Amino acid sequence: MLLNTLENIRNCTACSLRSGAKQVVLGIGSISAEILILGEAPGVTEDETGIPFSGKSGIILTQTMAEVGLDINNVFISNIVKCRPPQNRKPRKNEITACSGNTEDLINTINPKLIVAVGKSAIEYFIPVDEQASNYFGNVIVSKTRINNTTYKHRHVYCIIHPAAGLHNPDPILIENIKKYIRRIPVALEKVKNQQAEKSSLF
Ligand code: SF4
Repeated sequence: MLLNTLENIRNCTACSLRSGAKQVVLGIGSISAEILILGEAPGVTEDETGIPFSGKSGIILTQTMAEVGLDINNVFISNIVKCRPPQNRKPRKNEITACSGNTEDLINTINPKLIVAVGKSAIEYFIPVDEQASNYFGNVIVSKTRINNTTYKHRHVYCIIHPAAGLHNPDPILIENIKKYIRRIPVALEKVKNQQAEKSSLF
C-alpha cells in the first residue's frame, strides 16, 4: 500500500503543472511520523532538489523547529500541490483539487496525529471555502479528510503562517509570529494527544 501510494504520486501527471516542473516533489521524513507538515507548493529550489522546504523559507522552518527539539527526521514534510507552479505563483484551486487525491493518500498513509498547514493555500484546503485562512493562524482545527469516496476521518490541523511571508515582508513582528507558531508545534501535538487520550478513556 505504502510503496504503491508513494510510487503513484511520484508518477502523477494529473494536472498541467507536471509538464512545467522538473519532478514531482513528494515529500521527505518519517512515514511513521506523528506530524505531517503540508506547505503550499514546491518552489524553484524544491523543484531542483526534490525536497520540500529546501529553500530559504525551509531553513527558517527547520531551524525554528530544531530550537524546540523537533527533528526534521521525526516529521513528514510535503505540500498540498506537489509540482512547482510556474514563476513560483500560488497554486490555483483547480490544481489543489487535482492534487487532492494524492494529498489524501499521503495523509492516510502517514496517518499523523497532527497536520501542520503552512500558509494560506494549505490552510484553505482544510477550512470552509468562505472563510479567511489568516483567521486560523495559531489555531488547531478539526477538519474532515477523505478515507475514500464515502468515508471521512476527522483530523487535527494546526494552522501557521508560511515562513516565506517573512522573506517577502521582513517586518520583525511578522517574523516573530512566524517563529512563535512554529515553536508551538510540539505544544499543539501534546494537546491533541491529550485530547485523544481523554476521549479514548471515556469508553
Ligand atoms: S501537482 Fe499533483 S496532481 Fe498535478 S501533476 Fe503534480 S502530483 Fe499530479
